[in-house]
Amino acid sequence: MVQILVILLILLILSMVVCVVVFGRRQGKSRPGVMQLIWTAIFTAICYTAFILVPAEHYRLAVFMDGLYFLSTDWLAVCLLFFATAYTEVEPSSRLPKYMIILFAAAESVSFAVNTFTLHMFELKAETAGKLGINYWDIQWKPPHLAHRIFVYSIVLYSLILFTYRLVKEPSIYKKQYGGILAQALAVMVINIFCYALDTKFDYSVILYASMAISVTYFALYASPRVLLEKINSTIIADSVIGMAAYDKKGKCIGVNPVAAEFFSESGDIHDIAEGYLLRWKAEHAGNNEKVICEEQRGTRANEEMYFHVTYQRFDDEKGRNLGSCFQFEDRTEVVRKFREEQYRITHDMLTGLLNRNAFEREAEKLLAEAEEPYYMVCSNIKDFKLVNELYGAEVGDRLLIAQANMIRSALDEKTVVARIFADKFCILLPKGRFDEKEAFDQITALRDLELVHSFKLHYYIGVYEIKDVNEPIWTMYDKAIMAIDTIRGNYEQTICYYQDELLEHIMQEKEVLGEFDKAIADRQFHMFLQPQIANDGAIVGAEALVRWIHPEKGMISPGIFIPTLEKAGLIHKLDLYMWESAARKLEEWKESGIEKYSISVNISTKDFYYLDICESFRVLAEKYDFDRKKLKLEITESALMENVQKNMKTLDGLHGLGYDIEIDDFGSGYSSLGMLKDIHADILKIDMIFLQETQNVQRSTTILKNIITMSKELGMPVITEGVETKEQVDFLMRVGCDMFQGFYFARPMKVESFESEYCQ
Ligand code: C2E
Ligand code: CA
Ligand code: CA
Repeated sequence: MVQILVILLILLILSMVVCVVVFGRRQGKSRPGVMQLIWTAIFTAICYTAFILVPAEHYRLAVFMDGLYFLSTDWLAVCLLFFATAYTEVEPSSRLPKYMIILFAAAESVSFAVNTFTLHMFELKAETAGKLGINYWDIQWKPPHLAHRIFVYSIVLYSLILFTYRLVKEPSIYKKQYGGILAQALAVMVINIFCYALDTKFDYSVILYASMAISVTYFALYASPRVLLEKINSTIIADSVIGMAAYDKKGKCIGVNPVAAEFFSESGDIHDIAEGYLLRWKAEHAGNNEKVICEEQRGTRANEEMYFHVTYQRFDDEKGRNLGSCFQFEDRTEVVRKFREEQYRITHDMLTGLLNRNAFEREAEKLLAEAEEPYYMVCSNIKDFKLVNELYGAEVGDRLLIAQANMIRSALDEKTVVARIFADKFCILLPKGRFDEKEAFDQITALRDLELVHSFKLHYYIGVYEIKDVNEPIWTMYDKAIMAIDTIRGNYEQTICYYQDELLEHIMQEKEVLGEFDKAIADRQFHMFLQPQIANDGAIVGAEALVRWIHPEKGMISPGIFIPTLEKAGLIHKLDLYMWESAARKLEEWKESGIEKYSISVNISTKDFYYLDICESFRVLAEKYDFDRKKLKLEITESALMENVQKNMKTLDGLHGLGYDIEIDDFGSGYSSLGMLKDIHADILKIDMIFLQETQNVQRSTTILKNIITMSKELGMPVITEGVETKEQVDFLMRVGCDMFQGFYFARPMKVESFESEYCQ
């Protein structure tokens, strides 16, 4: 019996040491108390083991060892109490009871130590038990030992009460910890009382001291409530915004949280659907042995289009054997939506929803790279769109653009790219065969019919460039379409213009003219040439002043090249003022030299009416130079006069008032009728050369000419015909009563010096 007990005790001592090594590393609030308890238990067990091994002949040693054992049970009880108060968190507010207990335990200890000699607590008696002849020490208690027993029992009892209190109060998942310790402590006490009451040969409760110390250490330091952990985990998973579906190793669905359930929101059993999903996923990712695979997936939730970041994760054990797997569905809808919005914002024009400049370039390049048929780059532009904004407000301007965008969009297909490039400039890239002029006109008419801008004559320009080389930069193509528009800008009659290579040349030329104009004026590169005008009696009556640009490098440039450019750029008035002054100066010079028979006719451009106060300019001229005003004749074209009849009539009256004569230039070339003559008070009618140049309908032309001349005679207006090139023309014009002639037949425009040397001698 004693051998078994000793082996058991040694095993327990070793277990406790192992316990200290394994669990002792854990940090925590209860650690010091637990360590005290277990070391004391180890000491107690060692003392008891030593005691029962003491041979019968060493009596004092046996008493000493047993005393040591008893005093250590005192300390063990104290440790249990201190641990219990700390662990159950019912520490007394005063430290006094603690000190008293320690003091009492110390006194007991002394008493047990002294007992070795005094034997006042207990005595021992060596006995041999029964047939087996086992030696053991029989204890004979003396009355003072009762203090020890009361002390230990009351302390343990108090600890038991504390544990019981906790056990009742705590939620079920914590009960195990307190319950475990409580059961052990209770067992210790019961066994102890049992051994004492029955006066057994050995104190078996020492076994339970050891096991109690181990379980206290385990519960206090090591054990974590698994159920709690599981509970926390499952709550987190259930409440998570991330959808989760878990599977066992055979692919059986073992759990789906609410978010994942929404993700799988099809009708049917949610586990079946989740299992089907796993099967499909595995089929799609066959051969992929990665543990984690992520993918962006489109899905629906409550019939809404959603985006998920799906993560598939396999769980393996340490040996790599699969345990199960899990899907996580992270809702990325908002991120994807924001990303798309951002993409849209970067690539689209916010006002019209069409592509913007950058996106157009990219899309157009893509389309052309795959083009199998010829393509057109078509650009549109509204005449004076800025004015629309100014007159009607930006809001109306915007509505106009949106309407236009919608109209273009409706005619779209995958073979076209449409964009708003800037302001009112739209651009369409489409197969040549898809472009239909009539459709374009219809769209423009529809836009005009919207009547967003009342009383404003909306005019659209469309520039078309046929793409010859698909590798040409998109913006060069665009520029060429815009170039086509530039050539008809300001023109109300034309809407569509196709780019031709000559256009480029023309534009370059225009650029040159504009670039050099100011310097040319300053350097006096512009010269007045004179073309004689002859009366029907053959006498020279005057000349028309025609401008010539004598360029230092390019030589003489005729007005046909630069006048339209200057008119378009709003610069012609500068040149005209210069020419008018040249004519006035020449007339003054002639007057001074006694030559007073010649008049000089100067040209007034349509655009001069916008940029100049014409009357004022000629008033100033008349003041500055001394000449006969009747000798400076002013040529105003028929179309210039017709543009704003009322205002121009005033100008004419003003000029008449200053004493100038007005000639209607290019009569018959415009759209105006003979009827205008009754409204406009001009002095001379200058018939355009087209009537003479007419080769096909000679008969008709001569009839018209004849009638114009007859009528102007009736109105008392002398007639001059320009562009007279042949003797036949002169004869005919003489016959129908033309008063004056101008043309190559008589003389070409010439330098002033030539004119003077020929006609002023
Ligand atoms: P325009 O006012 O009708 O001038 C008459 C044009 O007819 C001149 O061309 C003249 O050289 C040309 N011409 C004269 N006789 C004949 C002929 O027998 N046959 C043919 N085929 N042509 C003849 P030019 O000098 O080239 O001027 C062209 C136009 O430029 C002028 O037409 C006028 O509109 C404009 N222009 C010329 N000088 C000035 C100027 O100083 N100011 C403004 N605003 N315009 C000017
Ligand atoms: Ca003229
Ligand atoms: Ca003319």
